[in-house]
Amino acid sequence: MRTPQYKEVKKILYKDQHPDSWYVNFYRMSPYLACEHGCTYCYVRAEKYNIEGNFEQDIVVKQNTLDRLKEELPKLREYGTIGISTGTSDSYQPIEKELEISRETLKLIRDIRYPATFLTKSVLMNRDIDIFKDMKAYADIHINMTLTSLDEEVTRIFEPKAPSVKERIDSIKLLKANDIGVGISAMPLLPYITETKESIVNLLDQLKALDVDFLIPMVLALNPGRLKELYFETLKAHYPHLVNRYRDLYSNNTDYGGPRYSNKKFYQDMTDYMNTIGLAQRLPLRYYRTQYNNYHTIELLLDHMLVLYKSRNIDITRLRAANKRYLAWLKEERTYVARRRNLKFDLVDEKVDGLLRSDEFDKIIKNRKLSNFIREIIIDGADYDYCTLKLK
Ligand code: SF4
Repeated sequence: MRTPQYKEVKKILYKDQHPDSWYVNFYRMSPYLACEHGCTYCYVRAEKYNIEGNFEQDIVVKQNTLDRLKEELPKLREYGTIGISTGTSDSYQPIEKELEISRETLKLIRDIRYPATFLTKSVLMNRDIDIFKDMKAYADIHINMTLTSLDEEVTRIFEPKAPSVKERIDSIKLLKANDIGVGISAMPLLPYITETKESIVNLLDQLKALDVDFLIPMVLALNPGRLKELYFETLKAHYPHLVNRYRDLYSNNTDYGGPRYSNKKFYQDMTDYMNTIGLAQRLPLRYYRTQYNNYHTIELLLDHMLVLYKSRNIDITRLRAANKRYLAWLKEERTYVARRRNLKFDLVDEKVDGLLRSDEFDKIIKNRKLSNFIREIIIDGADYDYCTLKLK
């Protein structure tokens, strides 16, 4: 039985140093803590996240979320995407149906014409398609959906109260029919269960047929403590033959909770397959360039290129050095503006534009080919295909 815990917060919106590489949000917020979906593997269950009580029942509701937002949103100075519960909870878990805090949050964000995104397993987001469509008037927004397998039985075991695979697929169809981007968080893949070739190829083929825009896979992490204990209870009940293999795989007990050895070949094969079928590993440029100013677009582009090149075993030494120099330059410029309330962050964009139109940008990047590539994207409006690594 649900037992909501109402609390007041002093602050609701948090700004990061950089746009997030996975979900591409720059601001973070969450109206809820803990989650009724009750996924066995949910990393937020770990003690280090300090969520006490019954994780699936004692849902913390930040009841003054909207009041805080009304104060904090008008004070935002830097344009960028606001992520609602991208990892610490699910903003569309069942209690949201009654409280509608996430829906009202989206309306407030829409009213200041900022982009929003979230990570969810819930089809309750279908209710808010009208607001996502409003947002499309000023940004190509995208939604992040978690889906790790097409197997309804596996999903029911590990994600007991989340919507079924079929319901989630129907939601993806609805979003795509409304021209809203969809990213898939294939996390966590469960060793020997969903981290198998057959399972992942089925998933990738189905998602590609649905025209999803990108997919990010990640293997299961089991922080020692209550999370790991619960996961092993589930294994013993449903996959007793795997218990010893898991004991060995997760015997490291590191704070991060990652497996002792990585299934590198599996992930390499998966990356190659994704490139072959044209499924990107990060949110495509055409979306985030409308969610950010140019200076952040370049930052995200370089970050994503590092990921894409590395996954193809391309030498990233020079790219990494160029990225480091660009980030150092950007930090200085943003700090300058941040410290002067009378200045706007558009000034940083004006500077980037000036640099790109002269040879000054080459002095930062120190790689003429890369500078020109960025010019084609920012100045000429070219697009970049994350699977072929070609401009289009
Ligand atoms: S839906 Fe997400 S936040 Fe909720 S229990 Fe599952 S993994 Fe955790």
